[in-house]
Amino acid sequence: MKLSPEEQKLLERMKPGLYSSQGFLGADSRRPSVIIDTDRSTLEGLDVAAEDIAAKLREIMDVASGAFGTPVEIPDVGHAVFYESMGRIPCPFGDGVHRKGEVRLTTPDDVEFRFTPLSIHMIEHHGFFQGHGSRYRLEPDTIAAALGLV
Ligand SMILES: [Zn+2]
Repeated sequence: MKLSPEEQKLLERMKPGLYSSQGFLGADSRRPSVIIDTDRSTLEGLDVAAEDIAAKLREIMDVASGAFGTPVEIPDVGHAVFYESMGRIPCPFGDGVHRKGEVRLTTPDDVEFRFTPLSIHMIEHHGFFQGHGSRYRLEPDTIAAALGLV
């Protein structure tokens, strides 16, 4: 199917190199709107809002980034470490710039999730959890469960 000019522009920004050296789509060949729609139906099936996931991730990021690289205990979730990184990165949807740095959240079963200020923003404002194989892809059902939202 032919992409709209807006979606074509978005796709270009999401490819490796322009905004992020690794890009936002990983090995996923689906167009961003399809990724978003698929993840939205997953969340609807679970009765969880993307905003609730984003809010919880932001809470964890705030606590972890305040600890300056020291692991912090997140009750009922696991532990989190913030990795500082210099610089800022624009949102590929074109609505702002976000600081770099990532949180690694590890559950008691040793499952690791990685997310950044930009990934939280994209989940909250665009319902975008990134493509499969992307460094910061979060599976909506897995992260919702890990955060105790389902
Ligand atoms: Zn945005």
